[in-house]
Amino acid sequence: MYIHTHLAIRTLTLARRSVRIWVAHICFGEGLCRQMHHYVKASNETLRKRGYRLTPQRYMILSVIQEADSHLSIDEITERVQKRNPYVSLSTVYRTLELLRELGLVRENHLPGEQPHYEAAEGTAHHHLVCRGCRAVIHLDDALLGDLPDRLQSQYHFHGLTLDLVAAGYCDECWKTIKHE
Ligand SMILES: [Zn+2]
Ligand SMILES: [Zn+2]
Repeated sequence: MYIHTHLAIRTLTLARRSVRIWVAHICFGEGLCRQMHHYVKASNETLRKRGYRLTPQRYMILSVIQEADSHLSIDEITERVQKRNPYVSLSTVYRTLELLRELGLVRENHLPGEQPHYEAAEGTAHHHLVCRGCRAVIHLDDALLGDLPDRLQSQYHFHGLTLDLVAAGYCDECWKTIKHE
């Protein structure tokens, strides 16, 4: 077991006012918390290098995105952030996401027929399988594409490429339902 402490922001309501404080948080596992800690720490470094501070709003938005087990829309991010601090507005979330996206800390996904969704940007290659039925999103292992990036460079003389594949289809559950109808 890996026991460690880190700082976390907590929102307290005092005399009907919401107050944000930094508190030491003790973690009894290596899982999500350590990952979150690492992502927020790395993001903090990037922000500082580019002359920005890790404000409480930026910290909250990064944490919400990292803690989510799926992609989140702006509305979903705002809803989760406002649970921690109801005074953070949609426009603050919007502007913060713009900045985090520009700095390469947050990935903006445009999946067919959906408003943009956001997730933590980690690594360069990132591929999605999207279910047409239930809209479930599955992340695809980059290794499955084999030498496609190399072949795009050698056969099409296309360089410096980032490859974000989106494949639409039906997940197993939805496919079974369709076949029974
Ligand atoms: Zn499905
Ligand atoms: Zn994704």
